[in-house]
Amino acid sequence: MPGPEARLLILGGTAEAAELARRCVAEHGARLDVISSLAGATEAPVHPPGRVRIGGFGGVDGLRRFLAEQSIAAVIDATHPFAARMQANAAAACIQAGVPRCRLLRPPWQRRPDDHWIEVDDLDAAATALGSLGRRVFLALGARDLAAFARLDDRWFLVRAVSAPDPPPPLVSCRLVQARGPFALADEHRLLVEHRIDALVSRQSGGDGARAKIDAARELGLPVVMIRRPAPPVPPIAASVDEALEWLRGALSKGLAQARLPGAV
Ligand code: NAP
Repeated sequence: MPGPEARLLILGGTAEAAELARRCVAEHGARLDVISSLAGATEAPVHPPGRVRIGGFGGVDGLRRFLAEQSIAAVIDATHPFAARMQANAAAACIQAGVPRCRLLRPPWQRRPDDHWIEVDDLDAAATALGSLGRRVFLALGARDLAAFARLDDRWFLVRAVSAPDPPPPLVSCRLVQARGPFALADEHRLLVEHRIDALVSRQSGGDGARAKIDAARELGLPVVMIRRPAPPVPPIAASVDEALEWLRGALSKGLAQARLPGAV
C-alpha cells in the first residue's frame, strides 16, 4: 500500500482542532499523515484521529527543527484564541522554515444591545473592573488565571475546572465546580441562579462551546467583565474548519507538485 504523500501538523488543544483532525483523516485518508500536537496541560486529553504528540517544542527554534525533522508540508494552528505565545511561535517558525501555515481562529462573540459587557485588556484590569459589580463572582477562567483576583478578599468566587487545580485556587473565599464543557444554556442559567452570581469574568474566546454562560448572563441581566483577545496573528486566517480545509487543499496541491515525503511512494 502506498505511504502518505504529505504530513500535516495541527497545533491543537481545542474542539475545532479535534474536528479538523477528524475531517482531514476522513477527506485525505492514508495520503495524508496527520499529527496533532497538544501542549500537555490537560489531564487525560481527548485524542483526535491521526497521530498525537504531546508537549512543547522548545520555542521557535524547537518548532523549526521539528518541522524540518518531520518533513512537515503544512501547519494549521488551531490553538485557542488566547494561546498567544504558540500562535506567535508558529507564525515565526513556519516563515523561517518556509512551511505554509494557516491560523484557524474562531470569530469572537458579537456584543448585543442587551449585553452588559465591561471590556478590558488583561486579568489585572478585569480584577479592577469588578469594583462595585457585586460580591459573588463567577470566574470563567483557567486555574492559572486566578491569582490576579487574590487581592479581592471581600468577594466570593465560583471557579470551574475539569480537574481540581493543584495548587488550589489562591482565593480567600471560593467554591470549585468540576465539569467539562461544552455547557448548555439551561445548565449555565441554573448555575448562575443557584450560586446567586452578581457578575462574570470571561475571556473573549468566541465559538459555540463556551458561549452559553454569556447568553445566560444576558438573560439574567448580569454584567460580564470581558477580557479582549491578544493582537491578531499574521494571515492567512481561517474562521472555520471548512475554511481551514479549503486552505489545506490549496497548500497541498502546490506543495505536492514540488516535493514528496522522503520514502513516500
Ligand atoms: P501559550 O501560552 O500560547 O503557549 C505556551 C507554550 O505552550 C508554547 O510556547 C508551547 O511551548 C506550548 N504549547 C502551546 N500549545 C501547544 C500545542 N498545541 N502543542 C505543543 N506545545 C504547545 O498557550 P496556552 O494559553 O498555555 O495554551 C496551551 C494549550 O491549551 C494550547 O494548545 C491551547 O490551544 C489550549 N487551550 C488554551 C486555552 C486558553 O485559554 N489559553 C483554552 C483552551 C485550550 P514551546 O514554546 O516549548 O513550544
